[in-house]
Amino acid sequence: MTLQVRIDQELCISSGKCVADEPAAFAFDDDELSLVLPGAALLSDDRLRRAARMCPGQAIILVDEAGQQVDVQ
Ligand code: SF4
Repeated sequence: MTLQVRIDQELCISSGKCVADEPAAFAFDDDELSLVLPGAALLSDDRLRRAARMCPGQAIILVDEAGQQVDVQ
């Protein structure tokens, strides 16, 4: 993985999409908001991009090596 991933919990609507599709990379915290697991580092950029694209809250933020946010739409 070359992209870094984080969750903007202000945008997460607890849909569970990322947790269901990529359980090694995302999980719910005690408030049922998504958080990033260490397993996210093992996902390909394509899978991270897909997870971000599929997030209904656009809460999955990807950042490239230059520190720029990646547009996944
Ligand atoms: S897919 Fe998006 S809105 Fe749904 S749980 Fe994951 S981060 Fe939250």
